[in-house]
Amino acid sequence: MSICPKCQHELFIYEYEGIELLKCADCNGFWFREGKFREVKHFGFEGLAKTPPPEKHTKTLTESSSGSQDMSCPDCTALLVSFTYAYSSDILLYRCPECRGIWADYADLLRIENLLVGYKESLDEAKAKALPLMLKVKKQIQQEERTKEEEQKQRKKGIFNRLFGEKGTKNRKIQNIFENNDDIQKDPDSIDDSE
Ligand SMILES: [Zn+2]
Ligand SMILES: [Zn+2]
Repeated sequence: MSICPKCQHELFIYEYEGIELLKCADCNGFWFREGKFREVKHFGFEGLAKTPPPEKHTKTLTESSSGSQDMSCPDCTALLVSFTYAYSSDILLYRCPECRGIWADYADLLRIENLLVGYKESLDEAKAKALPLMLKVKKQIQQEERTKEEEQKQRKKGIFNRLFGEKGTKNRKIQNIFENNDDIQKDPDSIDDSE
């Protein structure tokens, strides 16, 4: 039996999107075993609220010493260490230094969800703003590529004319091959024009 590190009530197995978690029936906090936090993040934390805890509110708590109490890992009883989510937020989570599980209060999960949604929205906003600029850049690049292509074509034409002169331009087939084949063109000096 696993015990809630926060309020010492029993944790029960809670399945979310096929991911097995442990949930406290009393304080609604969640225990994520190693790697599970990231998996749930993929689906969003908000969905965790949808299934209520079982009807089993037996407050046998020896009046909670909320706040700075030591919290023990539900799996291996090591002392949990608090850390700030995403470094800059003021959301505190707790990690087991031994088995790498993570404890999160339910309210904090919702705050993380809001943070993620807000982040996504601001990202979308930034993307929307950047789009016209990106299109402009793309257009410019295409334009430059077209110019480059045109220049190369002209260059090929000049070389061809220099090599074969009037005789060559009469033979459209050879000219086409020459102008459209990069291998022939790579090093014009290597082409023997002595004849
Ligand atoms: Zn609890
Ligand atoms: Zn542990």
